Amino acid sequence: MSRTNVKKLLTATDLVGQDVLVKGWVRTKRGNKFVSFIAVNDGSTINNIQVVADAEKFPEESLKEVTTGACIAVTGKLVESQGKGQTVEIQAEKVEVLGTADVETYPLQKKGHSLEFLREIAHLRPRTNTFGAVLRMRHAMTFAVHKFFNDRGFFNVHTPIITGSDAEGAGQMFRVTTLDPINPPKTETGEVDYSQDFFGKNTNLTVSGQLEGEVAAMALGQIYTFGPTFRAENSNTSRHLAEFWMIEPEVAFNELTDNMDLAEDFLQYLVSYALENCADDLQFLNDMYDKELLNRLNFVVNNKFERVTYTDAVEILKNAKKAKFEYPVEWGTDLQSEHERYLVEKHFNKPVILINYPKDIKAFYMKLNDDGKTVRAMDVLFPGIGEIIGGSEREESYEKLMTRVREMGIHEEQVWWYLELRKFGTAPHAGFGLGFERLMLFVTGMGNIRDVIPFPRFPKSAEF
Ligand code: ATP
Ligand code: MG
Ligand code: MG
Ligand code: MG
Repeated sequence: MSRTNVKKLLTATDLVGQDVLVKGWVRTKRGNKFVSFIAVNDGSTINNIQVVADAEKFPEESLKEVTTGACIAVTGKLVESQGKGQTVEIQAEKVEVLGTADVETYPLQKKGHSLEFLREIAHLRPRTNTFGAVLRMRHAMTFAVHKFFNDRGFFNVHTPIITGSDAEGAGQMFRVTTLDPINPPKTETGEVDYSQDFFGKNTNLTVSGQLEGEVAAMALGQIYTFGPTFRAENSNTSRHLAEFWMIEPEVAFNELTDNMDLAEDFLQYLVSYALENCADDLQFLNDMYDKELLNRLNFVVNNKFERVTYTDAVEILKNAKKAKFEYPVEWGTDLQSEHERYLVEKHFNKPVILINYPKDIKAFYMKLNDDGKTVRAMDVLFPGIGEIIGGSEREESYEKLMTRVREMGIHEEQVWWYLELRKFGTAPHAGFGLGFERLMLFVTGMGNIRDVIPFPRFPKSAEF
């Protein structure tokens, strides 16, 4: 007999009355001298299947290895349940222990461990309800990302993970080298001799696939990347990881307004996909951690985002007398996450798209506005999160881009290919980056970014 997963057992009514085989991990075992109830979870759903083992057939001794955390295989008849809390259960015929879990040392004996503790056992935390829900939802959101773009005729492009350009990275990049880090070969002038390195030059882990994404958009029209990105920023915040996943659409012929429309459609699509396809997991997270979660998700799906210029936002923040910000805001400074959250959570009470930032706080490739001071940048700010998306219309004029490159001291030889896109058949285009884990924070309601990725990478984390 082949195994049926728990999700199917709990929903496929045609299986009632039939013999089934289920395999999974024991969540709890309870009972009395007549009968044992074993809750089994196999990861297919947050719900457990109840296995009923009559004492006549299964004396206590025979189930002594069936403990919390053990892996078991159960054969028996699927029957309608008399008990509360489940519609069906398995009347056990045979219980086989595939892997024991020592009661003294298995760390997930009790329910209700702290998230901090679970972070220390990242190899076991997927077996908890919380992380099962998060990981299933990560999958659903990944699938929804591809579906959204595929349905709209976008092409997925794989951009390099190891890259030779550090145009964006400014000190935040992880170096990739085959040279001895302690005793690297030196040139005659005493500098590290990267010509002896694997790639013959200094290389890094990518901080963004955007520049290469633009290459593809200038040929395929509309593309998106979805890959890992790396930032060696020493930030121990609940919103930053050293390794995170980013989705970066790039669209030829789009302007800033189209870019905003795409970002808004995309985010609303993803959140409604979660509501439609992750109902059980969402209900659990809502009840367990955040009673406002479902309301918040529904609100975002059903309300248009506010669109505001940076300049207007700065005025609003300056006038927000009651909210004392740790860092006062001045035109020309980048907004702190507390400013962003004030705009979203206190002032507008809805997601906000901020546009037209001062050019000096944004990247060299953003399109200059006619005022000469601001660029067509766009950040999408979300409740509880702050910045979830950063994007812009790109500068398509070769001359203007060259001026910016020189002003900002960017090494031309590293981005020559990027500049050539403006030399040969340049076109208006725009795109943005969505931090996948920021999205996951929003849809799960979890408070810390380390709890929405299976193996979080942050300063001093090197378990895996
Ligand atoms: P922040 O201001 O929050 O540090 P950023 O402006 O440095 O973000 P961008 O370079 O605009 O980030 O990257 C695009 C998106 O990637 C951000 O909007 C955010 O969703 C996500 N992101 C950026 N840095 C991180 C990080 N260290 N960990 C997780 N997600 C990140
Ligand atoms: Mg940052
Ligand atoms: Mg930012
Ligand atoms: Mg940004």
